Amino acid sequence: MGEKVHIVLAPGHSFEFKGVHKNNYYEYDEVNKIVELLVPKLEALNHQVTVVRGKLIDKVNQINEINPDLAVEIHLGNTNNQNISGSRSFYSQNNPKSKYLAESVLEGVVRMLGTHNVGSWIGWYKKISPSLVKNGKAPSDWRPKIDLFLSKINTTTCLIEPFYLSSVSDVEKFLTRNKHEFVAEAVKSGIEIYLKDEGKIESESTMDELVLSAA
Ligand SMILES: [Zn+2]
Repeated sequence: MGEKVHIVLAPGHSFEFKGVHKNNYYEYDEVNKIVELLVPKLEALNHQVTVVRGKLIDKVNQINEINPDLAVEIHLGNTNNQNISGSRSFYSQNNPKSKYLAESVLEGVVRMLGTHNVGSWIGWYKKISPSLVKNGKAPSDWRPKIDLFLSKINTTTCLIEPFYLSSVSDVEKFLTRNKHEFVAEAVKSGIEIYLKDEGKIESESTMDELVLSAA
């Protein structure tokens, strides 16, 4: 066996700004529980795991200093339609490894949780859906603000939203019934899919094409 794979986990948002507050739950509190349960599961697979918390820009700088093999930030979905439920992930545009990580983690999560697959999206601040990409309608020349976790971290990153905090049925299924451990297990299985298949990715990311000039 070679060196340990070093994985960084980050709960989305921070203790001070907890993200979405819906259905009587705060996003940060719940994703933090999932992250804490996920750490020993990954360590049991002999991976090295580091958790970073705090303001997004501080997390980004810390992760660039740590320089892990990959970094995953966990969020919960949010939309105004409380009937929308399921899992989705986000990746960095023009970065095949990030896309593959996002797809792998999502695959594991959907398979284990039995959730609706909402797809892997390009992670802009205004998210670009898979159907926009498929139909060639994703604005390639657009220069909006990009999610810093996806655009400013040098290693392979993705965001995963295992379920929607805005969904009454998802919240009932995973939070009211206290299924954080199950969700952590599902994210672990997705990371394992990525690590198992990582060797299949040949092209390095074309990060320079990414709009780092975004302001
Ligand atoms: Zn969030």
